[in-house]
Amino acid sequence: MPTPQAAELTARSIRKEFGEFVALDDVSLTIGRGAFVTLLGPSGSGKTTFLMVLAGFLPPTAGEVHQDGRDITALPPEARGFGMVFQGYALFPHMTVAENIAFPLKVSRRSGAEIRRRVAEMIEMVGLSGHGHKRPAALSGGQQQRVALARALACEPAVLLLDEPFSALDKNLRGQMQDEVRRLHREIGTTFVFVTHDQSEALALSSTVAIFDHGRLQQAGGPQEVYERPANRFVAEFLGDINILPISGAEAQGGVGHGRFEGRAIRASCGAAGATAALAVRPEHMRLELGEPAGGNAIPLSVTDLTYMGAETRLHLVSGGGTPVILSVPTAAMPAAVTPGAAVWAAWAEDRGFFL
Ligand code: ATP
Repeated sequence: MPTPQAAELTARSIRKEFGEFVALDDVSLTIGRGAFVTLLGPSGSGKTTFLMVLAGFLPPTAGEVHQDGRDITALPPEARGFGMVFQGYALFPHMTVAENIAFPLKVSRRSGAEIRRRVAEMIEMVGLSGHGHKRPAALSGGQQQRVALARALACEPAVLLLDEPFSALDKNLRGQMQDEVRRLHREIGTTFVFVTHDQSEALALSSTVAIFDHGRLQQAGGPQEVYERPANRFVAEFLGDINILPISGAEAQGGVGHGRFEGRAIRASCGAAGATAALAVRPEHMRLELGEPAGGNAIPLSVTDLTYMGAETRLHLVSGGGTPVILSVPTAAMPAAVTPGAAVWAAWAEDRGFFL
């Protein structure tokens, strides 16, 4: 449930130039009230620049930012009142945990009683009870990040902006902090905008994933939507392993495309672009068969390599025409006959493949 103070942010045709360089090109995105939106993309794709435009630290070269329908493009950051958490925690080293959290409340001239109440609440909310008197240097990286979160949320901001807040943490701690942020978002219900270049972090955390490449927004949608129905090849490949099969004679009819892969008829879903010359299927959406299965959408392959990964085994295969294919098979279901050199089939349901 969004809290009453949670804001809706809308970016309209944002362009940002640094000299000759175009860092953001015509980016439009609506961040719903109480949403958890991640900005995802490779290094240099414009995620941080976009966050800085939302925060008011960078003026856009063109375009507008609206908060709840009001144009805030010219409003300075302090007048927007958004909370922020960055990669380096930027805690005040000479202040205790409680003093760090109290700082923004003092700046906004809250009463002493309110500050004490709010600091105690925030310390408890981020799981740091008993640590209020400590200095940041006496805390672990994860604990310091919790203090940064508590400080950013102390003034009940309409929007919380987080820029790769966990990139300095090890994998386990990172997982814990992701759970923590998800819980905080659920409990507080304010609007979160989170920058990351980690696909699984974006898919796990957000209600909407906005994928950037070269300063352009490639697609924005729910995690399942962008993973299973990527708008283009960049999004498909950036979000995880995917098999791309070259298709000849592709045609579309009513949302279903058909064509031929190395002479075999195949059918798959197709989006607005219609049936194009490439078909994409995620490795976990392909089924391993030892013989030719009945029905369509099956191709003969030979095994080149197997990688044991615990619960799953990755099968590396190649088609007669030389197209590489990867399959992900539950290790417990792996037939013993499948060894390098074996001839097998891969099959998939019509709605699991899509034309790109
Ligand atoms: P990363 O994950 O590496 O932080 P990012 O997607 O957040 O990447 P940005 O930091 O937004 O990318 O940078 C986008 C591009 O704009 C980069 O090529 C960067 O070099 C350039 N850029 C960013 N800030 C400036 C600046 N102040 N002056 C000139 N170029 C800049």
